[in-house]
Amino acid sequence: MRMQSLDVVIVGAGPAGIGMALELNKIAGLDYCILERDRIGESFRRWPAQTRLITPSFFSNPFGLADLNAVDATSSPAILAGAEHLSGAQYADYLNAIADAAKLPIACGCKVQQVNPDPDGGFHLVTEHGELFTEFLIWACGEYQFPDLKPFPGAKWCQHYAQIEDWQILENGPYVVIGGYESGLDSAINLVKLGHHVRLLVRRQTWDLPDIYDPSQVLSPYTRERLREIESNDLLEIIFDANVVEVTHKDDRGFRVHAADGRHWDVQQPPILGTGFLNGGGARQIKDLWMWDDDGRIILSDFDESIYTPGLFLVGPQVRHDERIYCFIYKFRQRFARVARQIAQHLQLDIEWIEGSHDGVWGPFGNSECCEGCEC
Ligand SMILES: Cc1cc2nc3c(=O)[nH]c(=O)nc-3n(C[C@H](O)[C@H](O)[C@H](O)COP(=O)(O)OP(=O)(O)OC[C@H]3O[C@@H](n4cnc5c(N)ncnc54)[C@H](O)[C@@H]3O)c2cc1C
Repeated sequence: MRMQSLDVVIVGAGPAGIGMALELNKIAGLDYCILERDRIGESFRRWPAQTRLITPSFFSNPFGLADLNAVDATSSPAILAGAEHLSGAQYADYLNAIADAAKLPIACGCKVQQVNPDPDGGFHLVTEHGELFTEFLIWACGEYQFPDLKPFPGAKWCQHYAQIEDWQILENGPYVVIGGYESGLDSAINLVKLGHHVRLLVRRQTWDLPDIYDPSQVLSPYTRERLREIESNDLLEIIFDANVVEVTHKDDRGFRVHAADGRHWDVQQPPILGTGFLNGGGARQIKDLWMWDDDGRIILSDFDESIYTPGLFLVGPQVRHDERIYCFIYKFRQRFARVARQIAQHLQLDIEWIEGSHDGVWGPFGNSECCEGCEC
């Protein structure tokens, strides 16, 4: 039997995979597909029920500004959901709507289990449903489904943010939350709103930082605003400079959280980890195909191609170039055209399509049209 052969395979149908596919749609004659191990937007479906996108969505497309959370220039999550801060489920629905409208070739429930580079170029993929060959591979597996469950000894006694389905079904507190950035703060805010006492352990404060304007390094205005609403609430206690180094468990006493400076805090409920995700996230599934720096980050070419493995590209929140961190949708979507252009050039396909045309891209408004009644 002949193995199926494609020009490009994208692995992962989150915003990175879907947005990248919309960009590939602009290359005439390209044969590609997306392989998704679960459902479109699966990571967003797994968010805690109360979690919202921290970047606001607003429909500014007719005036030439893409919605911050859109995966392309013409669609708007704000319009589809009728919401400014979408829930995970709403955002997953948006991705589904985009995929349906653009008729993206997606195989769901098809995990890529193994990637074997061919010595003559290209990749043999072993999937749950058989093998296929692709000339180029775009890895879009995200981070959320790859939480760091072992940031320190005894972390096995804790519950990671990514394992929480709904804050409402947690038992009565008090709670200890470890982590002073977005997921730690989101945990604390939701628990306090539900009436639990929360001790929030913060190693490095991420708000009120002068001269830092990048939301990849400083708490977002949305979370800052929500924190301000509960800061004076007696249910919240914030402990700074708490560098947690271990959690221990004694059956009768619950859990003890230990800091490097000798302080400790006891709690009956498992501590909540808001300590982040594995460096490289889902790219670790094929870790030998990337070059990693000493901090556990992936080193990429200017075209987001693996330094080790030609033809392998990375899209999504793990992309970094020097001090530029592309961990938000509005940041990493800016790299899609670059990857598409590189692939089109290799395959000697018409790259004018990428730079000049928006044909074939779904959206409530095309590039040249405007909204009804608009005078611009
Ligand atoms: C709580 C929280 C709030 C956030 N808020 C914002 C925000 O407001 N704005 C913003 O821009 N960003 C936000 N982010 C970050 C944003 O969610 C991520 O950057 C984004 O989801 C990354 O998209 P992705 O497509 O790379 O990954 P994902 O959405 O995780 O998609 C990866 C897909 O790959 C699939 N997959 C993995 N391995 C395989 C395999 N071997 N074979 C096949 N499929 C596979 C997964 O099932 C998944 O569907 C937030 C993140 C969190 C955790």
